[in-house]
Amino acid sequence: MPELPDITVYIEALEKRVLGQRVERVRIVSPFLLRTVEPPVASAEGEKVVALRRLGKRICIGVEGEIWLVLHLMIAGRLHWFERAGGKSVKLSGRQNLAAFEFSNGTLVWTEAGTQKRASLHLAAGEEELRELDPGGVEVLECGPDEFAAVLRSENHTLKRSLTDPRWFSGIGNAYSDEILWAAKLSPTTLTQKMSDEQVARLFEATRATLAEWVERLRTEAGEGFPEKVTAFRPEMAVHGKYKQPCPRCGSKIQRIKYAANETNYCATCQTGGKLLADRAFSRLLREDWPRTLEELETQMTEKRGRPQG
Ligand SMILES: [Zn+2]
Repeated sequence: MPELPDITVYIEALEKRVLGQRVERVRIVSPFLLRTVEPPVASAEGEKVVALRRLGKRICIGVEGEIWLVLHLMIAGRLHWFERAGGKSVKLSGRQNLAAFEFSNGTLVWTEAGTQKRASLHLAAGEEELRELDPGGVEVLECGPDEFAAVLRSENHTLKRSLTDPRWFSGIGNAYSDEILWAAKLSPTTLTQKMSDEQVARLFEATRATLAEWVERLRTEAGEGFPEKVTAFRPEMAVHGKYKQPCPRCGSKIQRIKYAANETNYCATCQTGGKLLADRAFSRLLREDWPRTLEELETQMTEKRGRPQG
């Protein structure tokens, strides 16, 4: 699932292309995509783009009249940019195409691979409706260490769960949580209320450093082009998707824990004091702590808004 670094770079690429441009037409191909009735899609048509914003893992395109188009790519959704060539419309015949946003200078095409159509488009009128789509997680690149610690310790969960829950932290998913935990030398199964102040401080620094480093890396990679190579698996990653490969820090083989449709990667030497986290034991720990799929974690949040109490 595109996370904070990918979404940030998508937004920067969109700012360069569509800010100030008019939305001429919104073509929706997939019947599952649009999740709201009001305001209608037509209310965005003919209006100029005035703002772009990230909301958790969502991309928000704001147009005149305080209308927001809110795109959630989920796992397999991707965006593609086509410069306008001779006024021709982009063909949307492929099965992967979900929608196209036609601007005065080009077309943004939204695709989703696979047969499970999870990506969603919401329209919101005004800041208040937009806020309702915010799962509520703190922005780790903007918050201070005290706020970070308070959110982390607000409930007792495994670190893996806490980092990826959009109600607590904004924009972090399966891939970057693996990288953050490796950078912090912390186990994915550490319980948040059992962490020392030193561990929390280390996690805070590692979270910020990892996300900032990846934003910079993806920004450089995209350059002036549109980010077309968005993936959760990148060669420069230390542990995510690196099962059985050597840890770049200590050379030990990267381990994995499979849980339903999820996989967590870690280095036992660097993160768990050499202990292998058996799939079954960890699954038991996660059974109550994690939804069965990452999609569930994301979509649950749309329904259960705000940070849970107690
Ligand atoms: Zn290691």
